[in-house]
Amino acid sequence: MRKPFVAGNWKMNKTISQGVELAKNLAEKRPSNVDADIAVIPPFLAIPSVARALEGTPIRVGAQDVYWEESGAFTGEISCGMLRDAGCSFALVGHSERRHVLGETDEIVRKKLDALLAADMDVILCVGETLEEREADQTNSRLDTQVKSGLQGVSETLLSRVTVAYEPVWAIGTGRTATEEQAQQAHAFIRGLLTEMFGQQKAQAIRIQYGGSVKPSNAKGLLSQPDVDGALVGGAALDADSFTGIIEGARR
Ligand code: PEP
Repeated sequence: MRKPFVAGNWKMNKTISQGVELAKNLAEKRPSNVDADIAVIPPFLAIPSVARALEGTPIRVGAQDVYWEESGAFTGEISCGMLRDAGCSFALVGHSERRHVLGETDEIVRKKLDALLAADMDVILCVGETLEEREADQTNSRLDTQVKSGLQGVSETLLSRVTVAYEPVWAIGTGRTATEEQAQQAHAFIRGLLTEMFGQQKAQAIRIQYGGSVKPSNAKGLLSQPDVDGALVGGAALDADSFTGIIEGARR
């Protein structure tokens, strides 16, 4: 049985003080009797203060992005070591906004994933098709490319550090959520790819989160699908009550 993993991606929202306030509210309101891993993913600047505010709680702190080199002449970038020092245990790679707004390629995503694993950090690999791809019946081929370029050849001993997030681009920040059936279908397809690459036992252990307009009202239905092992939440993670409502949806 995979333990659900619910992570809140704050995107480019929350100043340091607003982030600390949200983190404290969340620590207070979080349902402690739901057996799930919970994380927040603040913007870089708020990470150290949010991590301090969450010390002594089980809520993990992650980063929205990372650069693959450890140090040097890479103006504006942040390394794995810097993130770990600031209190992060994981980072997202390949979020659709980085792929589609900021032009990140599958090759760049892979470099980031490899750097995180080499630094003993966890990673959430985000994948998902655009609306045009879905309408052209290319969902599976897009997922095949993104999952394989993201994970093919990763050492099996490091796989426990990997979560995959299925985030259909057309559902992110749009209020349009995948149906439970659409989510389950895509997750089962991803599980099949993982099985092809790593064998059934390893593939069964990898968590696959769903992301795309998850809210308290749809969380339970999505999270009760057999291959949906948690949620990557954007807008609804910016408020402690709605994020808590989603965590409730992970109750088994
Ligand atoms: C996200 O940022 O990964 C996301 C899924 O956003 P939203 O929940 O707002 O659609």
